[in-house]
Amino acid sequence: MQKGKINVQTENIFPIIKKFLYSDHEIFLRELVSNAVDATQKLRTMSSVGEIKGDLGDTRIEVKVDPKAKTLTVSDRGIGMTAEEVNKYINQIAFSSAEEWIEKYKKQENGGVIIGHFGLGFYSSFMVAKKVEIFSRSYQEGAKAVRWECDGNPEYILEDAEKAERGTDIVLHIADDSQEFLEEGRILGLLSKYCKFLPVEIVFGTEKKTIQEKDKKGKEKDVTVEEPRIINNTKPAWTQKPAELKDEDYKSFYRELYPMSFEEPLFNIHLNVDYPFNLTGILYFPKVKQNFEVQRDKIQLYSNQVFVTDSVEGIVPDFLTLLHGVIDSPDIPLNVSRSFLQSDGNVKKISGHITKKVADKLEELFKNNRQDFEAKWDDIKIFIEYGMISEEKFRERAKKFCLLKNVDNKFFTLEEYENHIKTNQTDKEKKVVHLYATHPDDQHSFVDLAKDRGYDVLLMDTPIDSHFVNLLESELENSSFVRVDSDVIDKLINKEDPLPSKLSDKQKESLQPLIEKQLDSKDFHVSFENLSETEPPMVITQPEFMRRMKDMSMLGGMNYMGQLPDSYMLVVNSNHPFVYKIAEEKDEASRDKFIRQAIDLALLSRNLLKGEKLTAFIKRSVEMI
Ligand code: ADP
Repeated sequence: MQKGKINVQTENIFPIIKKFLYSDHEIFLRELVSNAVDATQKLRTMSSVGEIKGDLGDTRIEVKVDPKAKTLTVSDRGIGMTAEEVNKYINQIAFSSAEEWIEKYKKQENGGVIIGHFGLGFYSSFMVAKKVEIFSRSYQEGAKAVRWECDGNPEYILEDAEKAERGTDIVLHIADDSQEFLEEGRILGLLSKYCKFLPVEIVFGTEKKTIQEKDKKGKEKDVTVEEPRIINNTKPAWTQKPAELKDEDYKSFYRELYPMSFEEPLFNIHLNVDYPFNLTGILYFPKVKQNFEVQRDKIQLYSNQVFVTDSVEGIVPDFLTLLHGVIDSPDIPLNVSRSFLQSDGNVKKISGHITKKVADKLEELFKNNRQDFEAKWDDIKIFIEYGMISEEKFRERAKKFCLLKNVDNKFFTLEEYENHIKTNQTDKEKKVVHLYATHPDDQHSFVDLAKDRGYDVLLMDTPIDSHFVNLLESELENSSFVRVDSDVIDKLINKEDPLPSKLSDKQKESLQPLIEKQLDSKDFHVSFENLSETEPPMVITQPEFMRRMKDMSMLGGMNYMGQLPDSYMLVVNSNHPFVYKIAEEKDEASRDKFIRQAIDLALLSRNLLKGEKLTAFIKRSVEMI
């Protein structure tokens, strides 16, 4: 038997390990199972190159809890360790790497949350155990089994032991404050979180299964059998070659990732890079539709099939966090803080690459089957628009396949649309004016008027659209965007100089206060425009600028703007015969009634006339006819 003192600077490293990782104690299990996987993979590699002869036998890893003995054991049938190796890898290397890790962690503590906690390895078991034992037998012929024990102070025991099989058992004697790790449910939860896709089969307990068996007479019957419960899928779809996978395989992998999701993904992107960095993964486009409650943080980050985190913020561009799926890269540094990650060169390259791949895929879909792309548009539009707003590189690519949809459900690319409207919708300043509706039903009379003129009206009906309109306005040269109700039709696309006015300035001046008196809201500003006789006598418009700013603020967190009242204009057509009649009317009561009637008609066409006022309007109208 050998007794020794682990060579450390810090007198007692364990309280530090415990303290620093207080909230993340559970990761010890991932570290231990990862070590077991490594030991098994090393064995397999040696066997495949002929360094180990013969059959490897069962290489499954087993996790066991024994509530009575208060132990949790991780067993593998990997390469094992000799006494010499335990000395080297556990007493010296592992310990010094634990120390090093803590130094690093201390420095980073203020730099944000460290993702992954990779690197602490074996010694993370002291976060939950008061004593740890290792039983190990090396694969080498004639190797003697060894037992190592350490109870949390830097003194250890290393001695010969009995162990029939090749491999390593790590036995944790769970500390009093960590009894939760003796509960089957807790361990099962941790294994499915961290180990679901590890490349070596992991057994935890047993499960009942129903299988069909033939009885003596050859009749089929159901029999219940108890079998080892395998936790993981050792060959998840992302580790396979895209050519080997069918559409259905991607879909079933999606269900494996999100068992609670009932929606199927729209399509997927299989990432597969090995130079200049390693990256594999599958990203899915989820169905989103109008429901803006887009779920973020559905992408899971893995490192060599070990789960690291499901919060990939800082690793992929913000708009990509709307996607679902898996990214696996051993090249993303995992034991550093998020703020450090954002400036890491590798991470930048990776995120640039993913952006490019996503753009490639969308362009391919658009080119290969435009009809299908259009059918999916409502689901992917939020994603593409958000991407164009937030990522310059993506914006340039997306200009080719970004679509605009009009109120008649017709689709155009940006270029097609420009050509479509250029002739008829260029104003006298040579600006191409794009018209859009946010709620075509509410804005129906305006859409109608625009269509009468042969104008096209775009549909911009999602919360992000106000921002997108703003972006397009700055990206497209010589273009402007206005909502159909932002002005009277003649001025929406200003083509000619205005008509002369039938009303004199004096008449306008005396009419203005009379109209204002009839308006019961201060949110309306009265103005006169010289429109044609065929336009309505009064129109209510909502000027573009303020309205758009307000809409944009709804999504952008500038909530104070959203609380501002809507600002409307009451535009009086100074060439309409009815307005002329009002101006000429000498009888005060009749005049006020006419004004009220014209205002109500304008309100009605915008669906703003309600309740008592609507009833009064109908009564008055009946009287008048
Ligand atoms: P890391 O795994 O990052 O190298 P650890 O502290 O977890 O650090 O482990 C240190 C070393 O101990 C490993 O590199 C390996 O050589 C050895 N080791 C740990 N667990 C096992 C195991 N289950 N089987 C064989 N060797 C192991």
